Amino acid sequence: MPRPILATIHIDALRHNLSQARLRAPDAKLWAVIKANAYGHGIERCFEGLRSADGLAMLDFDEAQRVRALDWRGPILLLEGCFEPRDLELCSRLHLWHTVHCNEQIDWLAAHKTQQPHRVFLKMNSGMNRLGFTPTAFRAAWVRLNALPQVEEISLMTHFSDADGPRGIAHQVAAFEAATADLPGERTLCNSAAILRHASSPLRGEGVSTLSADWVREGIALYGSAPDHPEHTAASWGLQPTMTLSTRVIGVQTLQPGDTVGYGSSFTAEHPMRIGVIACGYADGYPRHAPTGTPVLVNGVSTRVVGRVSMDMITVDLTPLDAATGVGTEVVLWGRAASGAELPVDEVAASAGTIAYELLCAVAPRVPFAVD
Ligand SMILES: *Cc1c(COP(=O)(O)O)cnc(C)c1O
Repeated sequence: MPRPILATIHIDALRHNLSQARLRAPDAKLWAVIKANAYGHGIERCFEGLRSADGLAMLDFDEAQRVRALDWRGPILLLEGCFEPRDLELCSRLHLWHTVHCNEQIDWLAAHKTQQPHRVFLKMNSGMNRLGFTPTAFRAAWVRLNALPQVEEISLMTHFSDADGPRGIAHQVAAFEAATADLPGERTLCNSAAILRHASSPLRGEGVSTLSADWVREGIALYGSAPDHPEHTAASWGLQPTMTLSTRVIGVQTLQPGDTVGYGSSFTAEHPMRIGVIACGYADGYPRHAPTGTPVLVNGVSTRVVGRVSMDMITVDLTPLDAATGVGTEVVLWGRAASGAELPVDEVAASAGTIAYELLCAVAPRVPFAVD
């Protein structure tokens, strides 16, 4: 029998989460962001659940090729654009739309020979200071692009640094608006947090028609995580878990007061108790920094990790479970238990001092996947 760990992708939940985004930004076309192999879910495994999107957005050229191999004929957007001049050949051949965020990318386009003019998304650095032209340099970049025969259509794009937090997006929206007011072209601004928290806010329709218009770019919310956890939970945003990481109990120990557990003896029993040893560890992608107290579901019952996470095993407290709980019992690290109980990946991430994005992307190659 194979080691009992398994990651299960829930197609219905992907479809449901996508329909939630449609409700929140009803006038916008939706890019389903599938970078990082669909946030660790697997592009091919997710495809059925995401194919009602208007476009698929990613960073890697091999992922764009995989999507075309699935016979996706719709728009594909490369969110970082080209990394070197010859990437443009693939853009021409596969009809990839690409971000233009620096002058070098414009130079490469100007030198590119193509029958097919390209559709490009000109990116503004409206305050995040990663990729893009500053508001002051934006117009000159647009004028240069607009003069190129290699370019068919220019859309305008920016990315928010604080859509999930107290600083918000108003300052970036204002910078974007001011610098693009008289430029034609479609706009795309919102990531998941901005769709959930801002796209249907009073800003919209009061001079900020660009906010959810044209295109939104949804990533993490499609995958069932609340980008602003713990202020909101995924359930409170109407999102369902799209990945369940599950395993089974493979051993049980009975502890007496004073007994310790695992490497470094970081947990000491205060009472007589039973612990389960489960077949999952950091080599499966579970965060090693998850401390004692991190939530886990055993047979659908909420309990906690005790002691240090090791490479192949984790120890869990069986106190809330009945005495018959033993080898073979179902364990859910995050996602949905057979009983229907749910453990949001956001809660595990918070306990480990990280975010769900990182956990979902980190499921290790040795973990088998299933689709339901
Ligand atoms: C990853 C990414 C997104 C999606 O972000 P989420 O927070 O996962 O919704 C949107 N736009 C750009 C440019 C990105 O890189």
